Amino acid sequence: MQRAETWSDPIAHIVRTAPDAPVLYFAPDRLHATARAFQAGFPGLVTYAVKANPGEEVLANLVAAGLGAFDVASPEEMRAVRALCPDAVLHYHNPVRSPAEIAVAATMGVRAYSVDCVRELDKLSGRVARDAEMSVRLALPVRGAAYDFGSKFGLGPDGAAALLREVSARGYVSSLTFHPGTQCADPAAWGVYIGVAAEVAQAAGVRLHRLNVGGGFASHRTGRAPDLTPIFTHIGTQVTRHFGAQAPALVCEPGRAMVAEAFTLGLRVKAIRAGGAVFLNDGVYGSLTEIRDIGAPDRVRVIAPDGTERRGAPVARVVFGPTCDSIDRLPEPLPLPGDMTEGDHVLIAGMGAYTRSLSTGFNGYGLRDVVTVAQL
Ligand SMILES: *Cc1c(COP(=O)(O)O)cnc(C)c1O
Repeated sequence: MQRAETWSDPIAHIVRTAPDAPVLYFAPDRLHATARAFQAGFPGLVTYAVKANPGEEVLANLVAAGLGAFDVASPEEMRAVRALCPDAVLHYHNPVRSPAEIAVAATMGVRAYSVDCVRELDKLSGRVARDAEMSVRLALPVRGAAYDFGSKFGLGPDGAAALLREVSARGYVSSLTFHPGTQCADPAAWGVYIGVAAEVAQAAGVRLHRLNVGGGFASHRTGRAPDLTPIFTHIGTQVTRHFGAQAPALVCEPGRAMVAEAFTLGLRVKAIRAGGAVFLNDGVYGSLTEIRDIGAPDRVRVIAPDGTERRGAPVARVVFGPTCDSIDRLPEPLPLPGDMTEGDHVLIAGMGAYTRSLSTGFNGYGLRDVVTVAQL
């Protein structure tokens, strides 16, 4: 009974509207609850990594929930945030930028940047405020995440110490930042980084203004929902342990974990082939792109057009997307109810992150509609 109750709103909407295109169902209360959990639990400043879901209703609700600082990677993301919150604090933490992008950031009053090489620091010098904050990006081969962010950005401990010394020598506010990798559920990943960050600061002879512990907080995809509290606690205790009286202020920049639970993705079965393969109305060029990299979520429910849930024994089905490209296929078969038929709706929970932001319009398909519901 409880479960039917929980799903009543999106299902009522589906029965009423029978959407033929992919829809994201958005529950603002969920987003507010997650924002509150981060603000109450994380021992420092909570910023939101806009790339995970730059939707207007996401940004507006986060601002309403009291978030005032955002991790942005491009002028477009800066404008999206400022349009809704003119005095938002922006952290421009994409470590590679063109001079034109830096000029936009400076004009918009951005005062916090990340750097991972002297060349990028040179690019910023003279273009941004002399007392801007420069966070040196540290990268370590740490396990625990769905994929490694350290292979693209960041410096090892020695390089990070040298660059931190240079940042300090040039008179910038000196900080460190790292990202443990996305969908990371292991508190130890943060702990290892924090220990090395303290060594880097000591080697550089620089007292850190802030330590940004990145995003990477896992969302619920399969099995049990991750509990972020042990991660928050571990971050706090490791900072005290490694920095003691020199403890920097902390910042985090969750993307995925902030938005994932606030959205349920609604798709539709376009065709079921004789062999059991399913064609959905969205695929890897749309909202299912991430499945290739971090695996399929298992909170999938299939709803008949009359609103009843299909409860047939699961059958592992090859799933194709709607485009004319043969790559548009999920990498692994997905277990779906055996009594599923064409025209059914497929609801996937926890799909707020990296769905609409990665969705293309290839072949005229893709995710465009967001419907706000009272509850999911
Ligand atoms: C992508 C990114 C984030 C957000 O990562 P999640 O895994 O979605 O939490 C935060 N900070 C930086 C610098 C990023 O590139």
